[in-house]
Amino acid sequence: MASRSNIKESIGKPIRCKAAICRKAGEPLIIEEVELDPPKAWEVRIKILCTTLCHSDVSMWKMDSGPLVKFPRIFGHEAVGVVESVGEHVEEVKEGDLVVPVFLANCGECSDCKSPKSNQCTKFGNVYTDKMPRDGTSRFRDMKGEVVHHYLHVSSFSEYTVVDVTHVVKITHDLPVDKACLLSCGVSTGIGAVWKVADVEEGSTVAIFGLGTVGMAVAVAAKQRGASKIIGIDLNPEKFEIGKRFGITDFVNPSDCKEKEKSVSEVIKEMTDGGAGYCFECIGLASLMADAFNSSRDGWGKTIILGVDMHGSPLSLSPYALLRGKTVTGSFFGGIKPKIDVPFLAKTYLDKLNIDDFISHEVGLEDINKAFDYLLEGKSLRCIIRMNH
Ligand SMILES: [Zn+2]
Ligand SMILES: [Zn+2]
Repeated sequence: MASRSNIKESIGKPIRCKAAICRKAGEPLIIEEVELDPPKAWEVRIKILCTTLCHSDVSMWKMDSGPLVKFPRIFGHEAVGVVESVGEHVEEVKEGDLVVPVFLANCGECSDCKSPKSNQCTKFGNVYTDKMPRDGTSRFRDMKGEVVHHYLHVSSFSEYTVVDVTHVVKITHDLPVDKACLLSCGVSTGIGAVWKVADVEEGSTVAIFGLGTVGMAVAVAAKQRGASKIIGIDLNPEKFEIGKRFGITDFVNPSDCKEKEKSVSEVIKEMTDGGAGYCFECIGLASLMADAFNSSRDGWGKTIILGVDMHGSPLSLSPYALLRGKTVTGSFFGGIKPKIDVPFLAKTYLDKLNIDDFISHEVGLEDINKAFDYLLEGKSLRCIIRMNH
């Protein structure tokens, strides 16, 4: 058994390290020692440097029934780390490389990975699994020997993790690790959606439903593309002030619309002379997706769904509005192909875009539950959780 201090000796052996384990839905995570197997073929063991809490972690942490619910579990899927060791057949990364693990696979070999039209890897497409993708087992065990489940192929609330090589993106060492960490999910989703899915052009009007990290990242990218009006829609008025820093030019609070006996879409249509060119839904509520669609412009208005609806609610849209040329599309990870686009974003966007402002808090792994409090209270965009190696 290797300890954390003598990593060279750990290669090929299990590592004992600290992890934040969720044992029951909605309960505080517990910092425990876990044992982590060495990487098998096509796997990479990563020493996590820092990680952040994303809404998808919180949604699954709250969920107490259904086929996706598995405890004990190590959450976390936005992270950056250093390769500790690699399994057989892994050639694209080596020990010491700086990497961003991502929830979306990118095998590079299947027809969809090869197509410029898709970022949905069909060979390794199951995102919501609790296991390693090739052999369907876990690499984590607790001190009683019980299996601890993976989450979104990353499980970064641990000092070390094992990730399939299809979920590992190599980046250059010149990037500050906390900024690089943000590229793992939320910020990339928002930027990618503007850049690849909507292809927002100069002078256009944009409406963003939900001003969390994804929504703010949409604003940042829309501003960079030269959008003339960027409307933020959120129930939390504090988000409006914060949003200005990210490029939000106008705000709509649905509570105020109610008082005026108008729907949100009526208000947005008035503000945009008939409807916004691009509407982004960043929460994951079917009713809000319909609001976004109804706020978009007849003829060519485009609605992009980025929020994950975990309830399976049906989406109700007017067929006649579709006939009039509006479109609605969904996008996992903002249409980003992890292995191509994340390094591109890292190189191109981190200098140009205002990424620092996404980091609202910072805690050590031992205080990870504070990160949950900040996000649940609507105080935080991204709370960096640092590992104390
Ligand atoms: Zn693929
Ligand atoms: Zn996420």
